[in-house]
Amino acid sequence: MTRKFSVRWAVYTPRGGASGVRSTATIYVVEPLGGATVKIFRVADCLFCSIAAGDIPATRVLESPRTIAFQDINPQAPVHVLVIPKEHYQNLAAVAEAGDGLLDEIAAQAALVASNSGVADSGYRVVFNTGDQAGQTVRHVHAHVLGGRPLDWPPG
Ligand code: 5GP
Ligand code: ZN
Repeated sequence: MTRKFSVRWAVYTPRGGASGVRSTATIYVVEPLGGATVKIFRVADCLFCSIAAGDIPATRVLESPRTIAFQDINPQAPVHVLVIPKEHYQNLAAVAEAGDGLLDEIAAQAALVASNSGVADSGYRVVFNTGDQAGQTVRHVHAHVLGGRPLDWPPG
């Protein structure tokens, strides 16, 4: 059984911000509480949570029950779309750990974006930048779908 409720605070660290910043989140607790699984639905001040909620506009290209896909604001290729889960997961490891098929859904949507964008045959790349050295700037997991031009390897 699950109970969904809002909490007044959770610890969240915006990029470049001080740690321990108090913010808000909506969570649910899978009972019983002993060893409960706590899941964050939405993190305040998270850009992609705000886009998923429609509070910040984005050019959406595709939607599935648990994901949305939208144009990257600073495209690095003729096709540059981001696929995100509507719920908040910090990175690839977190969404993989959830183990409930969500990662499959993100991958399937990325493939569909490529197909719909006409790059499935010419080739495309799906990238999950993870952590500082990989250049992850938004700590809400997202798959970059890039295509429409030759993509160098190894990446810069
Ligand atoms: P990362 O650097 O975390 O792998 O990717 C974040 C991506 O989000 C970048 O490619 C960046 O251009 C994109 N981005 C940042 N802010 C916005 C925004 O407000 N709207 C959209 N659509 N994309 C954004
Ligand atoms: Zn988020």
